[in-house]
Amino acid sequence: MSKIRVRFAPSPTGPLHIGGARSALFNWLFARSLGGEFIVRIEDTDLERSSLEYEELILAALRWLGLDWDEGIGVGGDNGPYRQKERLTIYNPYTQKLLETGQAYHCYCSEEELEAERQALIAKGQLPRYLGKCRNLSGREKEERLLLTDKPVVRFRVPEGRLVVVDDLIRGRVEFESDGIGDYIIVKSDGIPVYNFAVVLDDALMGITHVLRGEEHLSNTPRQLLLYEALNFPLPKFAHISLILGEDRSKMSKRHGSTSVEQYRQEGYLPEALVNFLALLGWSPEGEEEIFSMAELVAKFSLERVAKSPAVFNLEKLKWMNFHYIKEMSLEQLTACCIPYLLKAGLIDEKEAVERREWLRQVIATARDGLHYLAEAPALVKVFFGETVELAPDDEEAKEVLALETSPAVIRRFREEALAMDDWDGEKVRQILKELGKELNVKGKALFMTVRVAVSGQSQGRDLNAILTLLGPAVVAKRLEESLRRFL
Ligand code: GLU
Repeated sequence: MSKIRVRFAPSPTGPLHIGGARSALFNWLFARSLGGEFIVRIEDTDLERSSLEYEELILAALRWLGLDWDEGIGVGGDNGPYRQKERLTIYNPYTQKLLETGQAYHCYCSEEELEAERQALIAKGQLPRYLGKCRNLSGREKEERLLLTDKPVVRFRVPEGRLVVVDDLIRGRVEFESDGIGDYIIVKSDGIPVYNFAVVLDDALMGITHVLRGEEHLSNTPRQLLLYEALNFPLPKFAHISLILGEDRSKMSKRHGSTSVEQYRQEGYLPEALVNFLALLGWSPEGEEEIFSMAELVAKFSLERVAKSPAVFNLEKLKWMNFHYIKEMSLEQLTACCIPYLLKAGLIDEKEAVERREWLRQVIATARDGLHYLAEAPALVKVFFGETVELAPDDEEAKEVLALETSPAVIRRFREEALAMDDWDGEKVRQILKELGKELNVKGKALFMTVRVAVSGQSQGRDLNAILTLLGPAVVAKRLEESLRRFL
C-alpha cells in the first residue's frame, strides 16, 4: 500500500471549533499511528468570510494541541501552494477539461430564475435542486442567454439515474441517487471554484489517500465522487466521523458553552487534557482506561474503533481529565501557568510575580486539590491576598459562628498572639491555637471556624493552617482587627 496521506483542511471563517479539532486530531493520530503524513491546508474560497486572522488562530490552536504537520501551510512541501485562493491557476485547466468534454457547462440563470425554480419545487413538495435549464442549450440559445449575463457559472452535469455509493470506513455503505442531486455549481461567476470542486482537486493532486472528516460532509461526498469519476482520479478512502452532541443530545453549539479550542485554552484547560478528551469523542480503546498520553493514543488509535453513533460532549468529564493533568504538573509548572490568571484578576502585579515566587508556589499548592481549570485559581486563592476581609454574603454558617458568645474573645486573643509575633510557621500556628483553646475553653468549630471566618470572611476554603501561615502574623492581626470592628 502506498504511504498514507491525510489532511486537515479548515475554512478560516472562525476559530478552531471543538469538532474541527477532533477531526484534526483523528487525522493526526491516524497518520502518526501508521507512519503516514499529515497535511494542513486552507480552504478559503469563501472570500467574504475567510480571513488571515482566523487562519492564524486555527494554526496556533493546532500547534497548541501538539498536532504538528509534515506538509502544508507554514511548512511547505511539493504540492503547494496550500491555500485554495492561491491555487486558482491550478484549478482552471480542470474546469476547461470538464467543459470541453461536456461534463460541465455554463449556466446563465439569474438569482431570480433560480429562486423561482426553488420555490416551485418546494411548493410541490420536491427536493429543491437545479432542473437543468442551461443543460442543453443550442449555440443560439447560449448567445441569447449571454446577453443577459456575461458571467456564467459552471455547473457539473450530473449523470442521470445513477446510484452513487460511498463506501465509508466508519459508516459502511451509504447510497445516494444521482437524480436527487441536480447539476451543481463547480465554479462561481467570479471564476472561483466552490468547495466541492476545489476539495476534490486538492485531495487528488496532493495524493490524499484517506479523507477523514466530520459527518456533516457526508452529503457532499456523492458530489465529490462524481467529480473524481469525471476527472479519472483514483479514489481516496472516505471516513466520516460522527457529530458531537451537547448533553441534551442536540448538535453541539454555543448554547452548550465554549465551542472553540481557544476558549478552552483561555479557561485554563491543558492541551494534554483536551487532546485526551477529544480522542475519546467517538473513538474508544479496548478496556476501561480513560487517561492517555499522546504517545499512548498514537499507539492505540485505529479507525476500526471509531464509533458510528454520535459522541456526547460531557464537560464534567473534561474537567475531571483536566484536574488529573493539573495534578500531574510540577508545582513550579502549575504556578507558572496560574500566574497569568492571578495577574489578570489583579491579585498580583508583574513585580510580585517574580519577587514572591516561592510564596506564590505555596499558595498555589493549597489550591491544587480544588483546581479543575486554571481560570478557577484566582477565586480559590483570593483569600491569600490583601489585608481586608469581606464577609461572604450568603454564608449563613459564617454568620452563625461570628454570633457565638465565645467568638469575640477568640478573635481578640488570637489577634494579640499574632501581634506579638514577627513571623510564624505552621507548627507555631498550631501551637498558639491549641493553647488558646485551652485558655478560653473552646474547641472545634467554635475555635477553628471562628478564626477562619474572622480571617477569610468564609466558613469554607483552603486549609486554615496554610492560610494563617502564608498570610503571616501581621496581615492576620490586621484582618482580625477589621473583623472585630466590622462584624462583631
Ligand atoms: N473546509 C471544510 C471545513 O472546514 C473541510 C472539508 C473537508 O474536510 O473536506 O469543514
